[in-house]
Amino acid sequence: MSYIQKEDPDMAAVFERELNRQETRLDLIASENYASKAVMEAMGSVLTNKYAEGYPGNRYYGGCEYVDEAENLAIDRAKKLFGADHVNVQPHSGSGANMAVYFSVLKPGDTILSMNLSEGGHLSHGSPVSFSGQLYNIVPYGVNRETEMIDYDELEKLAKEHKPQMIVCGASAYSRTIDFKRFKEIADSVGAYLLADVAHIAGLIVADAHPSPVPYADFVTTTTHKTLRGPRGGMVMCKEEFAKAINKSVFPGIQGGPLMNTIAAKAVAFKEALSDDFKKDQFQTIKNAKVVSDTLSENGFRIVSGGTDNHLMLIDLTSFDITGKDAEAACAKAGIVLNMNTIPFDKQKAFIASGIRVGTPAATTRGMKETEMTFIGNAISRTIKNAGNDAELEKIRLEIKELCERFPVYK
Ligand code: PLP
Repeated sequence: MSYIQKEDPDMAAVFERELNRQETRLDLIASENYASKAVMEAMGSVLTNKYAEGYPGNRYYGGCEYVDEAENLAIDRAKKLFGADHVNVQPHSGSGANMAVYFSVLKPGDTILSMNLSEGGHLSHGSPVSFSGQLYNIVPYGVNRETEMIDYDELEKLAKEHKPQMIVCGASAYSRTIDFKRFKEIADSVGAYLLADVAHIAGLIVADAHPSPVPYADFVTTTTHKTLRGPRGGMVMCKEEFAKAINKSVFPGIQGGPLMNTIAAKAVAFKEALSDDFKKDQFQTIKNAKVVSDTLSENGFRIVSGGTDNHLMLIDLTSFDITGKDAEAACAKAGIVLNMNTIPFDKQKAFIASGIRVGTPAATTRGMKETEMTFIGNAISRTIKNAGNDAELEKIRLEIKELCERFPVYK
């Protein structure tokens, strides 16, 4: 019997149900993944007991000699993975990492040119419901109506017109390669800082499966729990000239004590990400996404921008007369976990949406490959075409469960 089963059987039962959900259902949420047992062990380690405000070698608390080692391991491994000059591994989240960057060089009221939430950007890139949209003057850019890809000429025009202090690139629902070099040229042409938020594609970047922004961007932020497959958390990388400003901005600017257990888990995940197996998985993630996208296309679905270069795709459901919200609910009944998503120029609100977002990182971590992806693409198609038919959805659920049991996560 585990400690939690003895101390708190109610919570232990919740864990058991959640484990069962993860093992028996198919996770296609593009921002999710399965952290290894080693990463989870680090999160549950004694490092959770330690206060360590400050940075290695320079703390406001005694007894930090071992947590210093943990943080230095995380920093050194992150530098090696990304080739960054300076890394701060303390942000508790991706949104916090972005906040730290804004606060390091911008003043309230400054102009940020960033991607629209409804066309792929993230809340923390300037949505009116986020601190970022409330503190800064946001000029949004989107995708081209025809290609549904970023239109760099249009972006350049917007930059010249609005003269932003910062340009933000990187997205939560964009399936195409991002041209960081072009972003930097545009930022330089108007004297703006460039922030690349690679939360979604960080794992692909360290495997060289997507170009890296590190040689170009002044700041690079990421979460550590998506394609990077680590613990829930954030990180900032920057050029050496911004190192002091970033460290001050994270602590004491926006955070107090760092979560040393999470930082240790980040270090463990970074070690895993340095391995050849991790790199192979990132290429497989992209191959898998292409197979799901092609299979859905063959079944008559329109893929936004015509396909994918990365780990995710957006499916336009308008011709199937079903909303993203209803498609998400039908998939849930069939044991397929994914999320509704607006598509570019969507007529529906975000909480209804005309599309779904499908991602392959978690399924790839389970070991699934092309054969399973063809099955999955067909299963999504059958589910959406039979959304009102509970008997058919139950049949699909059993097939998905059988598939998941062949590719266990932790058992
Ligand atoms: N940046 C991007 C591009 C994201 O997709 C996300 C999360 O989905 C974040 C930042 C925010 O991360 P967090 O949820 O850790 O605040």
